[in-house]
Amino acid sequence: MPAAVLQILTEQALARGASAAAVIAADDIVVDDELARRCGEPRCPHYGLSASCPPHVGGPPVFRSLQKRCAHALVVRIDLPTGVLLSEQMHEVSRFLYELVASLEREALAAGCAEAAGFAGGSCKQAFCSQYPSCRKTSLEGICRHPDSARGSMSGYGINVGALMKSCGWQHRITAGDQRAEREATSWLAGLVMIGGSDCANR
Ligand code: SF4
Repeated sequence: MPAAVLQILTEQALARGASAAAVIAADDIVVDDELARRCGEPRCPHYGLSASCPPHVGGPPVFRSLQKRCAHALVVRIDLPTGVLLSEQMHEVSRFLYELVASLEREALAAGCAEAAGFAGGSCKQAFCSQYPSCRKTSLEGICRHPDSARGSMSGYGINVGALMKSCGWQHRITAGDQRAEREATSWLAGLVMIGGSDCANR
């Protein structure tokens, strides 16, 4: 059974709109240097566009160091029709995911988990700054426009999201080869909050 703070964070994630939320051991997160390298080659469309993506983040070494200081991670999943992934609506869904992860991180920090840190799939440029030509931080024009919500990209830190889903006991639910199933296929976005710190109530 998760400790009280983990239970509360899980309930909050679901109450705020996550399709699913699960607590796993921080050590169970698979971090792969090769995955982070692939952000640059072959190039992800978000590569280099925000301060939350490579090459502007510390990548796998920074995440592994955080992993050592944290006992748990709260993983959240947002289910959505596959068609949304390539639509304009994606900005809205992505923004929701970032704001959810950041709000859970704040709650964990308030509970004494000083190492709490949120990460999300996708790019904060897509979520918050798509109307601007560039990230304010990387272009050295000033501070981040959304410091309360922008968080690191999971891929940029080498987090293996497929393995993360498995650790949570979640399955991919896309069914190929059936037109109706394709139309109604469900895909997902995921985020996570690392939970740890010497005063963290779950320790
Ligand atoms: S300014 Fe925009 S693109 Fe840059 S880090 Fe902040 S939210 Fe992301």
